[in-house]
Amino acid sequence: MNFLEEKILADGVIKAGNILKVDNFLNHQIDIDIMRQIAYEFKRRFRGKAVTKILTIEASGIAIATMLADLYDVPVVFAKKGETANSTDDKYVSHAYSFTHKRMNNVFVSKPYLNAGEKVLIVDDFLADGQAMLALTDIVKQAGAEVVGLGVAIEKGQQKGGSLLREAGYHLESIAIIDGMDADAQTITFRQL
Ligand code: 5GP
Repeated sequence: MNFLEEKILADGVIKAGNILKVDNFLNHQIDIDIMRQIAYEFKRRFRGKAVTKILTIEASGIAIATMLADLYDVPVVFAKKGETANSTDDKYVSHAYSFTHKRMNNVFVSKPYLNAGEKVLIVDDFLADGQAMLALTDIVKQAGAEVVGLGVAIEKGQQKGGSLLREAGYHLESIAIIDGMDADAQTITFRQL
């Protein structure tokens, strides 16, 4: 078991509706040592790739993205959510259905922060149905930039996001992949790689 799987087993709480709460190290309180290990693990898994920008989505992706950006010494851009897209002239806009909040969000990045030719590594805390990642890859394409990889801390392998993104040809690295969760028994099964 790797460091993140151990941390999830120690501190994760399984909620009804296939939701894993990891508020005490990732989604509310942030454990800097775990963030640092996640960042080093992504750097190792994407070694050899040129990266000019880290892209994530607010809010919980920002901590991971910032630690990783420090290792690459490149800027972080976080896509914002939820603003009505009445003026799209100065923004790249996409859409993502939120699995946790059960609503459609606009996802946007202001145009000056993503440029043609950039090599973008996209990271996020969770991957479920892939909506957030697809919106971010769409935004990178709109900018004429290149997605060099997708890094996810926790992939919920029972949902379709992972297979969708891998089949689309993206280099997706997930540090922990959950294949099953039982809210009553509070048990989690990880994918053996
Ligand atoms: P997707 O867009 O892949 O369907 O869902 C990923 C997004 O939803 C992530 O950005 C994350 O914020 C949130 N999310 C999905 N599933 C979970 C979960 O089980 N626990 C938590 N804490 N967030 C989740």
